[in-house]
Amino acid sequence: MQSRKKIRFSIFLKLILLIVVFIALVNFAIGFFIRFSISKEHLGSFRGGPPPPPFIGHVLKELGTPPDTSKAKALCGEFNTNIRIETQNIKWTSDPDVPEIDDLRDEKAFDETKDIFMIDKNRRPFSVAKIENGFVIFTPRFPRDYINFEKAIPAIIVIVTVLCTLLYFSLRWIFGPVRKLSEAVNQISSGNFDAELDVRRNDELGNLANSINEMKQSISEMIKSKETLLIDVSHELRSPLTRIKIAAEFIGDEKVRTTIREDVAEMEAMVTGLLETYRMRNASENGTVSMQQTDIVELTKNLIRKFENSRINFKSEFDKRYVSLNKERIEIALRNIIDNALKYSDSKSVDINIFENTAMKSKTNVLIKDYGKGIEKEEIEKIFEPFYRIDKSRGKKISGYGLGLSLVKKILNDHKAEIVVNSTPGSGTEFLVIFK
Ligand code: ADP
Repeated sequence: MQSRKKIRFSIFLKLILLIVVFIALVNFAIGFFIRFSISKEHLGSFRGGPPPPPFIGHVLKELGTPPDTSKAKALCGEFNTNIRIETQNIKWTSDPDVPEIDDLRDEKAFDETKDIFMIDKNRRPFSVAKIENGFVIFTPRFPRDYINFEKAIPAIIVIVTVLCTLLYFSLRWIFGPVRKLSEAVNQISSGNFDAELDVRRNDELGNLANSINEMKQSISEMIKSKETLLIDVSHELRSPLTRIKIAAEFIGDEKVRTTIREDVAEMEAMVTGLLETYRMRNASENGTVSMQQTDIVELTKNLIRKFENSRINFKSEFDKRYVSLNKERIEIALRNIIDNALKYSDSKSVDINIFENTAMKSKTNVLIKDYGKGIEKEEIEKIFEPFYRIDKSRGKKISGYGLGLSLVKKILNDHKAEIVVNSTPGSGTEFLVIFK
């Protein structure tokens, strides 16, 4: 049993840290953006309070009486200030966002008795100067007035890209093991208990990975002990079966004798099938399956000949096609598939075709196609499980113990070959064996 590691750096903590770092980075990026997009000489101009009276006095003098708007425009640029002039005859502003005098009148600080007074409206400072027949309003320029949008757009793109990339890689790192975990669970559910899940983390995901490893080990041990029991019982059944067979021959009633003979034969076939599956798996686990370059076309032709069945149509793209395989085992696998195709298709024909997959040059395909009752989609995965038979009641009519395809799967796995099943209920089934 693997010990559960202590969580040192939980995912929750990691996420909090990521959020803090991200907020800091966003702040930094905004600062960087302002620094980058606003020219240096303008940076300080919108800090601090409203333009002071001596400055206003100086500007008013420059503007003259009545105020000269073109001069006002030039002064705005020179002093980074916005100006609004309102007299009986002139209504001019350097920026429409500078409020009109009537909008400032409601403010407490609005004091017409003074020549110059200061107002804070919407957190912006304004200096208001009384002139002949009107007012001049001064305010520091708005920050957005200084933003150079030509420079700003690439800066925004760079900042957003960098931040998003950082966020993506951080999240990927934090949740990376989730993908490994889901792959491992898929492997386990498909019966593969070999691969060890390697997640070296001191957080909840690391713990989950350890738990999955432990669970996998105990399930695998449980299955192994059940299998051992099954194999032992099968072994032990052989002698009593032989004894029953011999004893049955002494029964006088011909009908009873035949029934016992058939039942014993059925049990013997089941026991042999089980022991055969076990023997094959042991051999492949011990690495004692010998492979040699074999002509799959000839092997299939010989096999078909043994069936002595005129319903089989054979076709091959090649005269000879060499594949590295164990002859005895591939014969068993193909025999089981062909046997099923004949069994489950009444008296319709069965096509066997050997061809190359043009998309994947190295693949040799053996297709066994029947036009029988077919298999429902949800049954396709299950038919490879030992002792699985779709319609148990069929068993009475069609012999079999549900061991054939589990053996096929095992043999093909040992050959790193694939098996793909396509079936349309009512129309037939295709078993495609792909040698890589
Ligand atoms: P069995 O000994 O029962 O044939 P298999 O493991 O060979 O056991 O097959 C498992 C089950 O899959 C069969 O009982 C049958 O229901 C289904 N099956 C296999 N091949 C075909 C096929 N070509 N057409 C329809 N059903 C099939």
